[in-house]
Amino acid sequence: MVICKVCNKEFETERQLHAHLKAHKLTMIEYYQQYYARYDLHDGKIIKFKNKTQYLSTDFNSRTNLRMWMKDKPEGEAKEYCTSLMKKRIEKKDIKYAPTQVELRTIMSPPIQYHDKLFGSYNEFCKSLGLKVKFVSPKEIIEGEEWKGQEYKIYIDTREQKPLKFKDRQVEVKTLKFGDYAFSSKEATCNCYIERKNLSDFIGTISGGYERFINEIERSKEANAYLVVLVEDTLTNSLSFPFLKHISKKIRATPEFIFNRVRSLAQTYPHIQFLFVKGRVESSRVVEKIFTSGCVHEKIDLQLAYDTKKL
Ligand SMILES: [Zn+2]
Repeated sequence: MVICKVCNKEFETERQLHAHLKAHKLTMIEYYQQYYARYDLHDGKIIKFKNKTQYLSTDFNSRTNLRMWMKDKPEGEAKEYCTSLMKKRIEKKDIKYAPTQVELRTIMSPPIQYHDKLFGSYNEFCKSLGLKVKFVSPKEIIEGEEWKGQEYKIYIDTREQKPLKFKDRQVEVKTLKFGDYAFSSKEATCNCYIERKNLSDFIGTISGGYERFINEIERSKEANAYLVVLVEDTLTNSLSFPFLKHISKKIRATPEFIFNRVRSLAQTYPHIQFLFVKGRVESSRVVEKIFTSGCVHEKIDLQLAYDTKKL
C-alpha cells in the first residue's frame, strides 16, 4: 500500500498514486522532489528525477560531483561510503558477481581503479561482501608470438556491413554462428567471437532487438563460446547518446534503460563482456589483440584493461 504524502489518501499501487497526483496539480517529478527531497551530497542541489528508483537511490547528480565529494573524504569515510553503496546494490539488484567496470561506470559509483586504490584490491573488497569474482586484476597484456604467422586469419561474418580493416592480418569472409569476428584458431581464443557495433546499432540491439540478441547470447552459451560485444564509441559518449549529433533523435530509449539491461546481462551471462572503445581504428586494434593474447577475455575485465591502457 502507498500513501499520498499530500492528502494521506491510500492507494493499492504506485501507479494509482502517480495517476492521483494530477488532483494536486503535481507532476511525478515535483511530487518526489517536494515530498522526498534528496540533495546532491557534493553541491547540495536537488537530485534530478529520471525515474523513482534512480531518484531514491542516487546521492549525486553527476560522476564529477561524486568524484569531488570522495576526494576530500578521509579514507575511513570513503571506504564506508563505497561499502554501503555496494551492499545496497547487492541487496536491491540481487547481483552475484563483482560488478564489471562497465557496470560501475554506468551507475553513480567510483570505477574499479578507485576501489583498488582505496581497499588495496577491488576483488578482495567484493569477496568480503560475498560476491563471486570473475576476473583477475589486469596486468600488461602481451600478444602471443605463436599467433603472428600468416596462416592465422581473422574471420569476418558475411553479414558484417562495415568490416574493420586489419593492417598485417589476413582476413576471410565467412558465415559465423555468432558475432562478426572470430579467429581461425579456436584454440588461440578459447572459442571467442566478437560482435562489433556502432553506437546506434548497439542502442537498437539493446532496445528493439533485445529478444534476438538474447537468443544469440543463449546460442553462444550452448556452444561454449565467449562473446565480446564491442562498441566503437567511448563509454562516456555512450552514456550521453541523446546529446550526440550522430545519434538519431528518433531513439526513444534512454541511457538509463539501455545500461540497466547491459548491467543485467553482465550479471546473467558470465560468458559475455561489453567493451567500449574510441572509434574504428581502436576497434581493429583491440579485436586483434583480444584474439592473440591467450584468451585474455576469460581472465580480465576488458573495459578496465582498456581504461587503464593495458588493452
Ligand atoms: Zn493526494
